[in-house]
Amino acid sequence: MEVRRPCRIMMLVNPQSGRGQALQLFTGHIQGMLTEASVPYTLVITEHQNHARELVRKADLSQWDALVIMSGDGLLFEVINGLMDREDWQEAIQIPLGILPGGSGNALAASVHHYSQSPPAWNEELLLSCGFMLCKGLVGPLDLVSVHLASKQRLFSFLSLAWGFVADVDIESEKYRHVGAIRFLMGTLVRLASLRVYQGRLAYLPVKEIESDTKTRAPVDSLLPDLEQPVPDTWTVVKEEDFVLVLAIYQSHLAEDLWTVPGAMADDGLIHLFYVTAGISRPALLRLFLAMEKGGHLACGCPHLVYEKVKALRLEPITPQGMITVDGEVVEYGPVQAQIHPGIARLMRG
Ligand code: ADP
Ligand code: MG
Repeated sequence: MEVRRPCRIMMLVNPQSGRGQALQLFTGHIQGMLTEASVPYTLVITEHQNHARELVRKADLSQWDALVIMSGDGLLFEVINGLMDREDWQEAIQIPLGILPGGSGNALAASVHHYSQSPPAWNEELLLSCGFMLCKGLVGPLDLVSVHLASKQRLFSFLSLAWGFVADVDIESEKYRHVGAIRFLMGTLVRLASLRVYQGRLAYLPVKEIESDTKTRAPVDSLLPDLEQPVPDTWTVVKEEDFVLVLAIYQSHLAEDLWTVPGAMADDGLIHLFYVTAGISRPALLRLFLAMEKGGHLACGCPHLVYEKVKALRLEPITPQGMITVDGEVVEYGPVQAQIHPGIARLMRG
């Protein structure tokens, strides 16, 4: 990790994120901190969806030392994809990225705070911790995952790929965004009442099948066959086809109070693949999510929960309709595959 005091920060604030208070939180808690630490910044208030994506796609990045996102995970997803859209993506994606929790889904902020080995924090305390990390100016590598959709579109993801229960809760709970981060708990309880099974095929490339020199810098997806082709023999095909959820996650936290991957690091080069098979009872599923607050779900001894560390995966839903999310944003429903690109981005951290 290198110490690099940021000089010029582009501070992107989504005034609509979370409870609609990101701008007030910024002026109330962060502005003074940056001034005191003599960190100059330029405030950019996003006006609509994809505004930030367009902006960073065209920006003269030599003018900036870091891009900082004060919103939920959705705005960082836009920024990363804007950078990867550029012809000079290889250089552009090297710009340090910072996150300040201003949304209702602040998974990366919670993860970065956790990586700094600080005791758990929520709300304003989490915001102050992330603000403090910005002022310190430490930068480390961040893994990205490239995600291929049936329409041949390719996206870059820093957090998660979800299908079934988790994706449904994420999207359905958007309507409770005014309550803040607790929206996921509310959504979980509502979804539990109408728990359903999702049919599909899942396959993955386990970590142990890879030689050590696959740390490619360029995002050529060397591990992925064409989405229409069968997966190679080195892949594991899951024999169950009835799921309650499939979740591929590459940070420690799925939300501020969901510590999903106890051992995860920003640059561990791993996709942490979880799936829950059909047949799990509602109380057992609820127990898993409640245990996740303290990272205890894997110790629940639940036979329906499977956890694998993988480098690539493919999901082919059979259930005709449903929800797939990437970093909490809805993407086209259908077959999808993904692979990890270790450390191709850079993250401001503690
Ligand atoms: P939250 O955690 O509250 O969902 P996000 O950062 O995920 O916050 O933002 C939610 C969505 O809002 C994202 O899809 C983002 O692209 C979009 N967005 C960004 N700026 C604006 C804006 N000014 N008005 C409306 N939507 C916006
Ligand atoms: Mg969001």
